[in-house]
Amino acid sequence: MIRAEIDVSGVVQGVGFRPFVYRLAREAALTGTVSNTAAGVHIVAEGSESALAGFLAGLQSVPPLAVVHDLKIKKNPLSPADRHQDFTIARSVSNGGKTGPVTPDTDVCANCLRELFDPADRRSLYPFINCTDCGPRYTLIEETPYDRPLTSMKMFGMCRQCLEEYQDPGDRRFHAQATCCPDCGPVLTLTDNQGKALAENDPLARVVSLLQAGRIVAIKGLGGFHLAVDAGNEEAIDLLRKRKGRPDKPLAVMTADPRTIHGFADMDPEEETLLTDSRKPIVLLRKKNPFPLAANVAPGNRFIGVMLPYTPIHYLLFANRQCPTMIMTSGNLSGSPIAKANGEAVERLGRIADFFLMHDRPIVTRADDSVIRRSNGRTHIYRRARSYVPTAVQLHDDAGSTLALGAILKNTICLTRGREAFISQHIGNLDNCDTQGHQQEIIRHFTKLQRVTPDLLVHDLHPDYPSTRYALQQKDCRTIGVQHHHAHAVSCMAEHRITEPVIAITLDGSGYGPDNTIWGGEVLLAGCDDFTRMAHLQTVPMPGGEAAVREPWRMAVSHLYAAFGPDFSGLPLNLLRQHAKELATIITMMEKGINSPRTSSCGRLFDAVAALLDLRYSATYEGQAAAELEMCTDNSDRGNTAYPYAIAEGNAAFTLDTSPMIRALVNDVAENIPPGIISNRFHNSLAGLFTETSMKVRAASGINTVVLSGGVFQNMIMSRRLSELLAAQNFRVFSHILIPANDGGLSLGQAVAGRAMSRKL
Ligand code: ZN
Ligand code: ZN
Ligand code: FE
Repeated sequence: MIRAEIDVSGVVQGVGFRPFVYRLAREAALTGTVSNTAAGVHIVAEGSESALAGFLAGLQSVPPLAVVHDLKIKKNPLSPADRHQDFTIARSVSNGGKTGPVTPDTDVCANCLRELFDPADRRSLYPFINCTDCGPRYTLIEETPYDRPLTSMKMFGMCRQCLEEYQDPGDRRFHAQATCCPDCGPVLTLTDNQGKALAENDPLARVVSLLQAGRIVAIKGLGGFHLAVDAGNEEAIDLLRKRKGRPDKPLAVMTADPRTIHGFADMDPEEETLLTDSRKPIVLLRKKNPFPLAANVAPGNRFIGVMLPYTPIHYLLFANRQCPTMIMTSGNLSGSPIAKANGEAVERLGRIADFFLMHDRPIVTRADDSVIRRSNGRTHIYRRARSYVPTAVQLHDDAGSTLALGAILKNTICLTRGREAFISQHIGNLDNCDTQGHQQEIIRHFTKLQRVTPDLLVHDLHPDYPSTRYALQQKDCRTIGVQHHHAHAVSCMAEHRITEPVIAITLDGSGYGPDNTIWGGEVLLAGCDDFTRMAHLQTVPMPGGEAAVREPWRMAVSHLYAAFGPDFSGLPLNLLRQHAKELATIITMMEKGINSPRTSSCGRLFDAVAALLDLRYSATYEGQAAAELEMCTDNSDRGNTAYPYAIAEGNAAFTLDTSPMIRALVNDVAENIPPGIISNRFHNSLAGLFTETSMKVRAASGINTVVLSGGVFQNMIMSRRLSELLAAQNFRVFSHILIPANDGGLSLGQAVAGRAMSRKL
């Protein structure tokens, strides 16, 4: 007779782990107990050696939402007198302030789906069906431990049958905190755009017919409201775009199943695996040509964002064969966070949506859909939110209790608890009060859920960022500033648990530079606690400041001036003809330095080239011109050459001169070379430039590891070409996998760098 004490750590609470252990132990005729502890789950298992072996083998196939990080076993001989009577689920050991991980929301599981469409099941067609293995989690948890009174389900008292299931360790809804049924759970309501309930027997069927009729319906999901409209109806989409103030930005669609996707987009097996994964992200897929959905779903883009149903409401809508593939875009006003409460949704979205499909289960935390792209055999996360949060990134080192506040665009925050780093869902652009309030909400929620009181606040160096001001106002907490591109570098290092110094190629739109220029085309020698700027793109003025971000033609003019001098205005370029009237003013601004900060931004260089190719003179959303440049690229071998560049050795750093590139490129434009080929050559040149620069930095430093970070690496052509060229020169190259390369991943690097720097103080 043996007694085994087994400690399991990882994501093992609130995911049906204890009932799973209970059933296994009973099957193996073992006695003992299973309980939740501070660190995870503790099992006492007693029986014969062979029974134990069978039990341990069974422990390998854990429930779908569980993730085991570590499993420790201690075995001791046992006298029959000490043996437990049977196997039981013991009360949780009080966990002294710590808690097991909060798990993310997931798609409806196969068992629940079967019940949903089983006419004999008591939850048949019930839009809120869930179980221990599936459904909402993070978005409905108010506090930990994960227990019904601490979730937004607390207002729904369980009926007798639900309670019996909940209390029965043999039932698949044992301790399913969000369990409910038509007798005791939430209900769906269809309302008009004022929030007035419409008497409707079958609100779901009505929504389908409204969508068919081209109406806009706001649908409450897991982390907020979506705005839905028929993706085949150009006029209806146009109306949605007008009302939402979103003229061009691509919109994502939701469709019934993988088979329907094949009708409008190409999907390889790896992309299909991602799409059908229980996290159900938006995956960017190549559009079919011709494209059967409306042209204004994703104009100027070769890709379309696609997701599959992930709540019972979605499945029920698509069960009606008449339901069209629909646009499902976040229910927000341009720039504001996604609406979560019913009243708030009506107030904000009442002028956009014609109807609301809502329900009475409150959403505790907002979470937009996550956005992913597969390329080059890798997964690239563009937006990390619903179902990916709050899964922790495991760090190499203890980072204590650190709160990092992120950048201004695509903001996220990062909270560390020892070696775990919790990066929040995408919060948005902190350029308005709504989103700043949302950030405060997430900070409160995150610190409460993870039970961490930060003792170090990390912010960007930009003195005017709202997050910097917030950090500096906090009296009881140490604060530290981390340079934007240093944070990018460390963010990629942290993901790969790299602690040795690296060469960091950080390319993005903008970040505050300590030398009064705006950085964004940087090669750093970076460690966790320090960096040296080894090289940067040559700086050029941004005539008009922020206006130059919205109007890429201004950046084109700036790069033309840098490449040709003041006499560039006679060049045979459309953009110069179109903006002839403004040229004199722009030139004066640049020459006199009026509202023309200098930048080494790589993103702005992409903007300039997009304008030179007449792809886009002014942008309606961030990164539009650069994205369109990537999309137009001719990937064939046709004219696959590169433009020249120069690397100048300066006192402190190499200056990467792109003027020769611009001159050769303008020559190609004048010779009517197609934009796709010019773009191809431009991408090749930049990849070559940064590879050669890395070789110079390697020669100077002896460092052979390169990390790639910054929003420019969302450009898959750039990402792939540069990685390939670097690998061909025997560099070890690392890019982001778990978190976005853009500013959405910045907070992780801030937290790790901030903690490392604070240790030196
Ligand atoms: Zn389920
Ligand atoms: Zn019930
Ligand atoms: Fe950045």
